[in-house]
Amino acid sequence: MSGLAGIRIVDPHSHHQFSNYSTLVMLREASYRAAACLAYIPVRPSSASTLRDLFEWLVEEERDRFERVGIRPVIGVGIHPRNIPRTGRSDALAYVEEYLPSADVLGEVGLETGSNLEREVFARQLDVAERLDRPVIVHTPRVGKAEALRLALRILRESRLQPERVLIDHLTLDLLREVPREYYLGLTVQPGKLTEKQVAEALRSARDRRLLMVVNSDAGREDSDPLAVMKVAHHLASLGIPVDEVEDLVAGNAKRFLGA
Ligand SMILES: [Zn+2]
Repeated sequence: MSGLAGIRIVDPHSHHQFSNYSTLVMLREASYRAAACLAYIPVRPSSASTLRDLFEWLVEEERDRFERVGIRPVIGVGIHPRNIPRTGRSDALAYVEEYLPSADVLGEVGLETGSNLEREVFARQLDVAERLDRPVIVHTPRVGKAEALRLALRILRESRLQPERVLIDHLTLDLLREVPREYYLGLTVQPGKLTEKQVAEALRSARDRRLLMVVNSDAGREDSDPLAVMKVAHHLASLGIPVDEVEDLVAGNAKRFLGA
């Protein structure tokens, strides 16, 4: 465990806008360097202005709160596929464009059902990210994941974004090989997604992609563990994986992806 003491963890996919202050303090005490507040709310917005308020909350209030605690916030602005508003879609896209320059990433965005509407909103946001030079965190759904992944990859190829600016998240072990080289591979450790052991398995089975793997917690309001990334670090170290390799998965790769 002592070899890990110098690692300062980065968790680039979480929703700590739902976390109380003591959770953030706990992260700081556990040597977290950075953790994320990616855009998401649990209700479908009735209008675009809800998203505007959400983005304002994240880029202003959450950034400020994290700085007070002493952790670097990774602020995500974007329209999650479950958050496409019932009305005012072009206004919602305009708000993404307005707030993304104050954010660190476009996210989380992607496909849930793969409807025409979701595809269009996803593609238009990729254009904004490319234009404003922000990395992108792409959600894949629990149901119909393989199909949604293929569809998302097709939309990504049609965009002008470079693969190394994109993290495809919530991957399963089976789907790692479906993702073309150069995309970052998101490994989410959360009940219903991956376990610590499966991260070790991913590292064994796709060692050549070691420098693209990014472990994250998706911690927020669902069942999740804010310290999941740190626990993965300890698990990998307990298997005898060298500390510098562990560090890539729990900090270094995410830092490179974020340009931080
Ligand atoms: Zn998420």
